[in-house]
Amino acid sequence: MAAHSGKGNYRARTRVVVAGRDPAAQHGFVNMPAFRGSTVIYPTMDDLMHRRGRFSYGTRGTPTTEALESAWSDLAGAAGTVLVPSGLAACVLALMSCLKAGDHLLVTDSVYRPTRNFCDTVLRRFGVETTYYDPLIGSGIAALMKPSTKVVFTEAPGSQTFEVQDIPTLSEAAHAHGAALIMDNTWATPFFFPPHERGVDIAVEAGTKYLGGHSDLLLGLVSANAEYWPRLREAFDSMAICAGPEDVYLALRGLRTMRLRLAEQERAGIEMARYLEKRPEVKKVLHPALPSFEGHTIWKRDFLGASGLFSIVLHPVAAGAVAAMLDGLKLFAMGYSWGGFESLIVPFDCKAYRTATRFEPGGPCLRLQIGLEDVEDLKADLDAGFARMNAAAKAA
Ligand SMILES: *Cc1c(COP(=O)(O)O)cnc(C)c1O
Repeated sequence: MAAHSGKGNYRARTRVVVAGRDPAAQHGFVNMPAFRGSTVIYPTMDDLMHRRGRFSYGTRGTPTTEALESAWSDLAGAAGTVLVPSGLAACVLALMSCLKAGDHLLVTDSVYRPTRNFCDTVLRRFGVETTYYDPLIGSGIAALMKPSTKVVFTEAPGSQTFEVQDIPTLSEAAHAHGAALIMDNTWATPFFFPPHERGVDIAVEAGTKYLGGHSDLLLGLVSANAEYWPRLREAFDSMAICAGPEDVYLALRGLRTMRLRLAEQERAGIEMARYLEKRPEVKKVLHPALPSFEGHTIWKRDFLGASGLFSIVLHPVAAGAVAAMLDGLKLFAMGYSWGGFESLIVPFDCKAYRTATRFEPGGPCLRLQIGLEDVEDLKADLDAGFARMNAAAKAA
């Protein structure tokens, strides 16, 4: 097997298998090992003085990081990719690579909350002003642009609430203003939303989620198109926020099955969403693939699939009754993060921190991550949970 950049003439399924692999370079073994290293030794003084060689120092990359970076660039259609220690670090690096003191930043009101926290604390301290916008603003974003607006930061669908944003329209508006469009693409991944083809300049992925796929690693990936790649690479090299070798190794392993897991989680997620839509306790299901969801049309136009994460709004019920449901679940565990093989459920409420929009769902909200269990077992777990909730509501 020859070394693969992954591109070749292969179709997407094949590219996932071959991308970033070169067995001949590792004595025939199928997988790239986890290179651990700081020092890289140079054969001569002249080579050292000129930093001549494929690798120069551990923070600048290893064969392991290069394998995942090149594979991800192929899949995402990017000019280049860098790997950082977490998804949040990826959001931070993307912003830092494009902003300076005095700049203005537009961020979706439905953004992942720790990203909002970074904008409101560190970025503010560094003299960057953030304005939050309604995730469904579309072309109206142009009215929020100031002469100093340098970045539009989007995430689609929105964290927890799943508003589907019109990315091509945001891209057009940002570019007409000379600003960059940064997108947190963690939910769809490049398999279900090829970010750079759709006008995104810098795309962020929490590899912690579907790429890792097993809830046992932390990783962030930041990819850029040709225009933004030099400044992203410069920010990465100057800050050296580099990912650990074991996590990169595990992510490469996860990559080979990511498409299969996503296909299964898409199917199971839609089936669970349809089941929940029919439960009398459920007021609304927030899942972009359901025709009843308001972002469905844009999702259908721009996305190639849906992952297994969505939310539901319950009819008004006491918090104690919701706790009775969640506390007794056997398959759905309560915990943050998602994208692994196991199902998860968490209650949420965005009311306290949204600033551009009012979040009034009209009942308690739950976010579900559908894992790889049999959906009939998952439905039975929730059926029993709803029974506990109804009994607790009646007793109160
Ligand atoms: C989880 C998540 C992140 C952060 O990833 P970590 O690796 O947990 O830091 C960023 N964006 C989105 C949308 C996420 O869901």
